[in-house]
Amino acid sequence: MSETFQSIGVRSRTAEALTAAGYETPNPVQQDAIPQLLRGCDCVIDAPTGSGKTLAYVVPMVERLAGHGGHGARALILVPTRELATQVAGVIRKVDRGLRTAVLMGGVGYGAQLTLLRNAPDVIVACPGRLLDLAERGDARLGKIEYLVLDEADEMLDQGFAHDVERILGMCPVTGAHATRQSILASATMPEWVQQMIAKHLQHPVRVKGVQSQEPLLEHGMMAVRGDMKLKTLSRLLHRQRDLEQSQTIVFHRTKHGAKKLARDLLQLGHTAAELQGNLSQNARDRAISAFRKQDAEVLVATNVAARGIDVANVGLVVNYELPETPQWLTHRVGRTARNGAEGKAITFLSDQDAEQWRKLRKQGAPALPKLDGERLLEAGEWIMTETLDEPRNSRFSGPQSQQRRRPSRWQGRPFQSRDRRSHTTPS
Ligand code: ADP
Ligand code: MG
Repeated sequence: MSETFQSIGVRSRTAEALTAAGYETPNPVQQDAIPQLLRGCDCVIDAPTGSGKTLAYVVPMVERLAGHGGHGARALILVPTRELATQVAGVIRKVDRGLRTAVLMGGVGYGAQLTLLRNAPDVIVACPGRLLDLAERGDARLGKIEYLVLDEADEMLDQGFAHDVERILGMCPVTGAHATRQSILASATMPEWVQQMIAKHLQHPVRVKGVQSQEPLLEHGMMAVRGDMKLKTLSRLLHRQRDLEQSQTIVFHRTKHGAKKLARDLLQLGHTAAELQGNLSQNARDRAISAFRKQDAEVLVATNVAARGIDVANVGLVVNYELPETPQWLTHRVGRTARNGAEGKAITFLSDQDAEQWRKLRKQGAPALPKLDGERLLEAGEWIMTETLDEPRNSRFSGPQSQQRRRPSRWQGRPFQSRDRRSHTTPS
């Protein structure tokens, strides 16, 4: 029997709001996490990109808060990027319009955020830096937080954010059963070192492990491309994606400067490209993501700032123009497509200059990637992946790119030659 939100313990009022927002039935991760969280447990939600972790922690939060309180923020959700903060606040609004949410992030003035804080918010959704700033000034008060979420937890607890996050946690009440605070960590990647953090910050947490779907929906191949041919190859791929697949593409670059230049180059080649990277003003970042969401831009050229959490429905292709720093970033980047049961494709460019970095990623646990026949793809639209002989060395690594599909691709519906070991050609 398939579960409904009500059958897993959600109040009918909330279940109706979920249905009205288009969420008919709970996804597997929600079926597992929501009842546990309703019981008040601390929880680690370790589930693939696009599996629905946001509602898995938002719905129990809405149930626990049970409407606008007016006596100080009781829930805090920490996220790594401003775009993700805005997106999560949007999900909360869909589930309960009555709750007041203060979204706190850097890069914009204090005025509007101070007004939100004075308006008795129930929930704070924040990036750590600005929240800490406001909390230290006494404008944001965390003494009544009883529901705390670290979304993209492994990033929030990693070097860049750990210091701020630990200080913020220190301002909240203690966590655990019989304590006032309930804590949740969510991510599609939980590297080994996160275990220590879990032990440090959570009390007897329940672990919700997302199941890999039976029918993997992401096809991720590696394409050999000469360094000086990457731009031209990308441009051809984008034409194909827009005209034949009618879907959008996210292209990841390693540096802010590189992303900026690539976006300019693509504009010059006639593509509608939006650019998202940390050197831009927040205004420009907002315009970029909104143009992309509205499908005014066929491609979003981004740094890792767009790699985590961002959910855009029509993304059919992710291109790694340059390799990321760790296998976890690879998982999150390609996880911008093939979300929530949709199909998607990812292509990782590999030039001679990238070879060493790729070896490093493999040693760190990145999965072997099948080789894509670039020439056939660009010339004839045939998505042909040749299985690599190089097998994953770390079977514990989990991520959507380990779910390569072993049957014909729908991209032109041509045969998928999984045992074909012919060498692939480099597109020229
Ligand atoms: P994750 O955080 O696990 O990467 P998200 O929470 O961003 O995934 O959800 C991915 C997509 O799935 C979003 O577009 C979201 O609206 C959709 N989604 C989540 N839960 C449901 C549901 N129960 N029914 C329908 N769509 C859902
Ligand atoms: Mg998420």
